[in-house]
Amino acid sequence: MEKETFISEINEIFQRIDEGVILKSDILKLLTLPEDKTSYLFERARKIRDKFDGKEVNLRALIEFSNYCKRNCYYCGLRRDNRNLKRYRMSIDEILDVAGEAYELGFKTIVLQSGEDPWFDGKKVGEIIRRIKKSYNVAVTLCLGEREEWEYAFWKECGADRYLLKHETVDSSLYRKLQPDPEMTLERRIENLRILKELGYQIGAGNMIGLPGQTLESIAEDILFMKEMDVDMAGIGPFIPHPNTPLSYVRKPGSVNIVLKTLAILRLVMKTILLPATTALATVDPKGREKGLLAGANVIMPNLTPIHYRVHYEIYLNKRCLREDILSCKRCLETMISSMGLEVSKGFGHSRKVKNQNLKVKGQGEKGKTEVEYLKLDGIK
Ligand code: SAH
Repeated sequence: MEKETFISEINEIFQRIDEGVILKSDILKLLTLPEDKTSYLFERARKIRDKFDGKEVNLRALIEFSNYCKRNCYYCGLRRDNRNLKRYRMSIDEILDVAGEAYELGFKTIVLQSGEDPWFDGKKVGEIIRRIKKSYNVAVTLCLGEREEWEYAFWKECGADRYLLKHETVDSSLYRKLQPDPEMTLERRIENLRILKELGYQIGAGNMIGLPGQTLESIAEDILFMKEMDVDMAGIGPFIPHPNTPLSYVRKPGSVNIVLKTLAILRLVMKTILLPATTALATVDPKGREKGLLAGANVIMPNLTPIHYRVHYEIYLNKRCLREDILSCKRCLETMISSMGLEVSKGFGHSRKVKNQNLKVKGQGEKGKTEVEYLKLDGIK
């Protein structure tokens, strides 16, 4: 394709998206951009991130406090039938200690993640949240899978701010193939997300890229779904086959380039969204985090799980920074972030949706222009 035709075609897509016209055909077009043309998309995504969310990266301290799981998801190394995994649970005091360490190091968000472990019942998790919120001035994100509605409600009361429950794929027949348990359905996963949203959580969804049988069309549907759900965060990462799971036959992890394009398109479509450059991305590509930030991501979740536990939180193998101590990890990230002309956010890194809605109204009043028009004004030359 001639360069000029290409640019005008892509610009038309960008313009439609800015005007709020989100077409599946446009998303597909962007998803299929050849690799030598993606820089144009990524540059646009960065501009939008910088404009709406600032040139800031939010660091979240991840604590993986239990790798026990009652589920049997075909893709995940924590699945209950994986007998080759040494299981662990951190004690509540240990979790509190790590949260304190994270706070001392300047982290403003603690992410509590685990397998679906009934030992950590609603009450115990509530106690952890309450104690963290009482002792440290931090936001709390939960990533504990599908739980009872009363638990979600109780944890919100205890002070939890956000909940990350990746929808994994919005293709229901593909979803079915990832789950042996007939109870675990896509509908149920989405219903959980709706409940969490209604309870006032900032919600995070997200899909894996490169699942067997997944098509680009279904990834486009994932993007449309997250837009429609108006999620606050999206965890997008490559699927990495784990040898002790039924999906071990998959030869390669998901494509880095498709992950990056998905991040960038989400940034275009949703403007203010918390988008992690995920550990999975950094695992399949040593420059994954940098590439994620260059494609419009604005969150990194360093792992603060004590190393002797961390090595057993084996969702997939050879995780990035598996044996890195947190001080050197934090320094390394800060250097990387500032070398990219970005800075580490000093705030809690809450969803900016509300803030930007105000901005928009203000903009209209002062200059008679909408946000969309602003974007067009400093559009790509
Ligand atoms: N049990 C919780 C949280 C732990 S799993 C839950 O289900 O939400 C967290 C995420 O890890 C999952 O949502 C999934 O997207 C991702 N994951 C699991 N196995 C993976 C694999 N093999 N490759 C890449 N990501 C994986």
